[in-house]
This record gives sequence, C-alpha cells and structure tokens, in this order.
Amino acid sequence: MLTVPEEAVAPLLGWYGANKRSLPWRDNPTPYRVWISEIMLQQTRVEAVKPYYRRFMAELPDVESLAAVDDDRLMKLWEGLGYYSRARNLKKAARLVVDEYGGVFPHSRGELLKLPGVGDYTAGAVASIAMNLPEPAVDGNVLRVVSRLTGSREDIAKPQTKQAFSDALRKIYPPGRCGDFTQALMELGATVCLPNGEPMCLVCPWRGLCVACREGSTDEIPVKAAKKARSIEEKTVFLLRCGEKAAFRRRPRAGLLAGMWELPNVEGVLPAAQASAQAAQWGAEPLCAVPAGKAVHVFTHKEWHMQGFRIECGREAEAFAWMTRSEFEAALALPSAFRGFLDFLWRGR
Ligand code: SF4
Repeated sequence: MLTVPEEAVAPLLGWYGANKRSLPWRDNPTPYRVWISEIMLQQTRVEAVKPYYRRFMAELPDVESLAAVDDDRLMKLWEGLGYYSRARNLKKAARLVVDEYGGVFPHSRGELLKLPGVGDYTAGAVASIAMNLPEPAVDGNVLRVVSRLTGSREDIAKPQTKQAFSDALRKIYPPGRCGDFTQALMELGATVCLPNGEPMCLVCPWRGLCVACREGSTDEIPVKAAKKARSIEEKTVFLLRCGEKAAFRRRPRAGLLAGMWELPNVEGVLPAAQASAQAAQWGAEPLCAVPAGKAVHVFTHKEWHMQGFRIECGREAEAFAWMTRSEFEAALALPSAFRGFLDFLWRGR
C-alpha cells in the first residue's frame, strides 16, 4: 500500500507560500470560480486559459448567469478552448445547482460528483480549494510528483494507481490548509517537478525526502504505459461562398462536437470534380472547386486529416445557414478543427 510521508506537508506548504503564482482564479476561490477554472484548465495551459477565464467571469460571474446563458453565446465564450461538451456540461451542472441546490454548491465530494462533467479530479479540486475539505485532486502533475517523492513505479495510467495515490494523500491533508495543499501539489508539478526527466530538484522543497531524486531515477519515474494509437479519418471540407456569404451547418446533436457549427464536409478525400459534384448535389450551383489547403486536427482518440475546397456558388443551398463574415464572427463558435480554413473562406470578395 502506498504511503506518502507526512513530513512532506510542511516544506511543501512553506515553499508554496513563498513561490505561488498569482492566477486570476486564486483570488476569491469560490466553488463557482474554482470549478470554471479547473474545467478550463483540463488540456489547456495556464497562460492560454487566463484571458478566457477573465472574459467568462466578466460575462457570467455566477452560477445563475451561467444557468441562464444562451447556448450559442456559451459556445462563443468557449471558442478556442475545444472539448465543447465541457461547456455544455457546465451549463447543465449550473442548472442543477440552481434548481436542486438553491444556487449553492453541495458541500461534499460525493454530491459534487453528481454534477454533469464533474469527475474525481474536479470534485477534489472544488472540495479542497473552495471548501477546505481534505479531498485530494489527483491529475497528471500530482501523479508525477507523488510517484517521484515515494519512488512508486506503479503505472500512473491505471485507475487503481490514481485511487491509491488519492487514498494515501487524503491521510496527510493538513486541517485548515486543504486548499493550499492541493494547489501546492499542482504548483510543484507545474513549475518544479517537470515531466520528461527535467525536474529542478535543486530548488525543490522535497529534495531531502524524495526517493527518485536520491536514487537518480527521475527519468524513469513516473511509469506510464503507452497509449493506443489514434484512428485517422480523412475528410473533404467545403468552403462554399455565395457572394459575401459562406455556408455553415450544425453537427448532429450526439457524438463528437455535438451540436456545434461546422463547415460542410464529407468523409474521404475527394478530387476537385467530385467535390463540385457534391456541392451540386446539395443544390449550391457550383462554379469551380479550388484546393484550399490541408489541415490535421487531433482529438483524444482520433485524428481528422482534411482537404479543403473553396467553391464559388450561384445559389444559397437550403441545406446550410449562409452568413457574412461579420454575422458569423458576432454569433457563431466554430470548433478549432475548422478554423485553419477561415483565411481561405473569407479571402476575396
Ligand atoms: S526532488 Fe526532484 S524529483 Fe523529487 S519531487 Fe522534487 S523536483 Fe521532483
């Protein structure tokens, strides 16, 4: 059974007090503010999240405003962060907090876990940082620093390892400093105990305690099993223009990027003549198809390899919503998978 030494707590808290970064979500860490920041920070760097967070908080400062926001406006605020299902879950969870809990976040990890989109990590972060409960939030950073501190060679990709780390940490959470302890673990992983064999042990508060540092095994720990290769899907993306307007459509309500706006596209890479034929089939009266660049977009489990065609059209086919650039920019959020084509789309008249 994994044990995290209790002597690790005090030096870490001391180091955190002296070295923590000033981050917008660290001021006034209410459950709402911590929750939004943690969801935004999943898969996105701190520096990139800051402007999104400020803009989101300026427009939706509390759970009531999020519960009532228009869906397209929410997607616009989220545009560029990716993983749009997270934004949809935020709104669903906000509604639940307003309707079922009278606008006050439930005060336990178990209840927080019932909110859509809230998993173990987020529940732990909100419970410890905003509510000062002894609930660990174990992400990749925390798995790395605790693996190195304890010399653990358990595979950190396994859920059992995460559970064992969480159980071990819960036993040493310092009463009254739970939020600081969670943030200190995250901060150490983000700024000192860096991945890929480059930890800065000389400035680490755990340098006298850490097994990996003492054994010289920081390039072997943490242990992580290789991931399965992503599948590849080829697509042809259509940049249909009719005068000043361009064609957009909504994706299906279920599945990848559910309900998001997109550029029209079909499976497979078509030659120009077939791309024109496809546009004709949609009723857009195509004039000619010009290659408009290639793009690759990487999702968690798959990659899209896309070929674009720009096609001037004689008719606004009914299958699509046709918008000018300013109408599009004011109202629609386009997933980043398609944004590499926007230059081509709006080029020219
Ligand atoms: S001493 Fe080095 S390896 Fe150990 S926790 Fe600190 S930075 Fe990481």
